[in-house]
Amino acid sequence: MLQSTSRGIQISGAFIIISMSSVMIYWNSYQTKSADITIVNLTRQTTEISIKTCLKNPPSLGHFVFHHFNGTLEDLNNKYQKYKPELGGKFKPLECQEREKLAIIIPYRDRQRHLMDFLSHMPPMLLRQRVEFTIFVIEQDPQEKFNRALMMNVGYLEALKQDNYSCFIFHDVDMYPINDNNIYKCSTSPRHLAVAVEKWKFRLPFRGYYGGVVAYPKAVIEKTNGFSNFYFGWGGEDDDLGARLAVVGLKFVRPAAVYGRYATPVHGKDKGNPVSKDRFRLLGNAKSRIWYDGLNSVVYNVSKIEKKKIYTHIHITVDRQKLEENVKLKNIELEMQHLKSSPINKQ
Ligand code: UDP
Ligand code: MN
Repeated sequence: MLQSTSRGIQISGAFIIISMSSVMIYWNSYQTKSADITIVNLTRQTTEISIKTCLKNPPSLGHFVFHHFNGTLEDLNNKYQKYKPELGGKFKPLECQEREKLAIIIPYRDRQRHLMDFLSHMPPMLLRQRVEFTIFVIEQDPQEKFNRALMMNVGYLEALKQDNYSCFIFHDVDMYPINDNNIYKCSTSPRHLAVAVEKWKFRLPFRGYYGGVVAYPKAVIEKTNGFSNFYFGWGGEDDDLGARLAVVGLKFVRPAAVYGRYATPVHGKDKGNPVSKDRFRLLGNAKSRIWYDGLNSVVYNVSKIEKKKIYTHIHITVDRQKLEENVKLKNIELEMQHLKSSPINKQ
């Protein structure tokens, strides 16, 4: 059956692109909305139809429920086969072409159950939102206290070695969005997405809360030199990130609370992640550390990269002493550069 409308042509579920020199047929195994394709050119008896750029506001379900997942990774591999992810878990929307490439960075250690829930919950939502994405799980080995922010820096740097991602969402493994109007794409400002979180009765715990889930375009994360590397143990690193924004003169934005809703499982304290006693001291000089403590001074060792079918799992080790020395060296290096370029030295 051939249907021709002002928006596109559909022949029994196959989409056709005819350009001057080539004919390509896109077989689409799932229902495609005609709004996602468009006729570009009807001159010289050539029909050129291209897959349209994905809409900014894609079709939405609104609220959707979080369900705990009891299956295995293999079950999810099979479930997502229809989306044809590339090895390492690069998912692309089937209906349209998305310009932005999203890397979701998850700091991780010993949260298998939460990770399975995350992998079960997220891809269907992201594909409804027409997002092109890869999930990167960054796992810190057990030898040192957990360092969530350092894991974010690693995720950013390692993701860029895999592809030219333009948008980064730094995401706790135990936060599950439950309204798909909470769009997982970047805008020019950084965005804080975890606005109404179940464990705080769907309110912000305090007005300046900047934890859980944040979305950064690449240019902005470069501007703030990523995250601080100094927060070993629980707490402080998200406020530090907020302080960095103030230094570079940026503000974050949030979706409306009806959209930025997250389900959160109740969990106990983790081994290896005790409350940080240093966090207030570190926060006290957060603004002055931004130039040397971050992406430009992080030190870690990648022990394994596992490109799974539906996500990428990167195992790393951190030598705290080496790291802290390197951050200090970076500070000295920058101070020397600054001195050299000061007007007194130029005379
Ligand atoms: N996390 C982890 N293993 C740990 C500690 C933390 O994977 O042992 C990661 C995980 O992504 C988690 C995030 O760090 O969601 C934040 O830690 P936590 O859940 O303890 O913070 P809170 O629940 O207090 O916000
Ligand atoms: Mn948690």
